[in-house]
Amino acid sequence: MHSLNSLPFSNSFAALPEAFHARVQPTALEHPARLVHFNPDAAALLELDPAVCADPAFTSIFSGKQAWSGGAPLAMRYSGHQFGHYVRQLGDGRAILLGETTTSLGQRWEIQLKGSGQTPYSRDGDGRAVLRSTIREYLCSEAMHGLGIPTTRALCITTTDDEVYRERIETAAVLTRLAPSHVRFGSFEVFFYNNTHDEIRVLADYLIQHHYPEALTEAEPYVALLNSVVDRTAQLLARWQAVGFAHGVMNTDNMSVLGLTLDYGPFGFMEAFDPGFICNHSDHHGRYAFDAQPQVALFNLSCFAQTQLPLLDVEAARAALESFQPAFTRYYNQLMAGKLGLPAASPDSVALVDDLLAQMAAAGTDYTSLFRALGDIAPGRQDGRDYFIDRDRFARWQHDYLALLQQHARLDADWQARMHAANPKYILRNYLAQIAIDKAEQQDYSEVDRLFRLLQKPFDEQPGMEQYAAPPPDWARDIQVSCSS
Ligand code: AMP
Ligand code: MG
Repeated sequence: MHSLNSLPFSNSFAALPEAFHARVQPTALEHPARLVHFNPDAAALLELDPAVCADPAFTSIFSGKQAWSGGAPLAMRYSGHQFGHYVRQLGDGRAILLGETTTSLGQRWEIQLKGSGQTPYSRDGDGRAVLRSTIREYLCSEAMHGLGIPTTRALCITTTDDEVYRERIETAAVLTRLAPSHVRFGSFEVFFYNNTHDEIRVLADYLIQHHYPEALTEAEPYVALLNSVVDRTAQLLARWQAVGFAHGVMNTDNMSVLGLTLDYGPFGFMEAFDPGFICNHSDHHGRYAFDAQPQVALFNLSCFAQTQLPLLDVEAARAALESFQPAFTRYYNQLMAGKLGLPAASPDSVALVDDLLAQMAAAGTDYTSLFRALGDIAPGRQDGRDYFIDRDRFARWQHDYLALLQQHARLDADWQARMHAANPKYILRNYLAQIAIDKAEQQDYSEVDRLFRLLQKPFDEQPGMEQYAAPPPDWARDIQVSCSS
């Protein structure tokens, strides 16, 4: 276990040529910083002693006040397609990569501050983040990890009494984010559209060397890299769709080349099932609606594949893109069959899922609650018809479902445990996050901590926490979340 001073820093991204980043130091906020929350599991990933969080230097470093010796702070350069339009110059406008550590097992982790002041890529932005959005990202990234969905992680949140101007005055905060790499599709696009294709090769080589070494064993490593990015993205999207996660801003600059959930903004978990669910209040045309996400991922992948054309044959790029839809469908059908308690997907399981989702859409059934309840409904311990308007239709569905289960599954003593392992009880509902945020803005961080612990184990029954599994109360149905963060 390392102390803050002994953590080994390696700076592979900083070692890339100047075109890839801008050196920049965090800008301290005016008021003294406090620690809102610390994630000991994330510290363990870095092999950092969790006791360090009590050291005032910890809060100082992770609020951007004190430099971390050994780091090489920088903002990463990228561009991207935002809502379908190419934007030439984005880059980390309020994130600063402090450096990168490599664990004793060789795992790399980039350590990044988000909200630590302006960078050369800030455009008109203030370089800051607000407590509200950092709490949402902090809790959601931990929740996604708990759900088994690839994601960036978060080490801590710090805050100060500084004011930040958004639609209203809000509290400033800094999130410390961790990822093996924060490289995005947009990190390649910036070089493709600037016609500086040498950098595309440098970045692809960097990715292969550090994150996709298996590509080197293939005849065409760049093709293997593209295929891997397509496959990981297909897996990620299948997981999002199966759990009911809407990202909200699937711009290419928010798409990780490692297939991680990246850049939590106006995300939302599905509650009353609505395939066209739009979680981002600013997304007027529903470009990033829930059921559009897989197609948007393919669009984004095609933007990425285009940037790889200087490195590979156009037919190879086309083939990689064509593999997305079948891969996504395969992963998704498998996950949904698993949620029904079936060992494998089949035309029958797909038909059952389609019918169930149609009934849920008609009745506005809470997505998470219904799947969780299937573990009881299937063996007849609970009457599932109560979740639906057309009770007879559900009874017919249940009849077909049981017939399939009897052929392929075991309704034995372990049935419910297996169903619970496939269907989470707890998700980060917007209204739960909002309650935690409202308290945190009054400097009471107890609810952030409660949700954090709850969401680390979303599949477990947690006695005394039942109310956190409930669908939103009436007052909370229409909480609106926008891009402002
Ligand atoms: P996002 O939609 O949060 O992924 O951000 C899109 C781009 O805007 C990224 O380049 C961000 O770094 C930048 N950005 C967002 N908010 C700010 C801010 N408050 N100050 C500076 N840049 C920002
Ligand atoms: Mg972003």
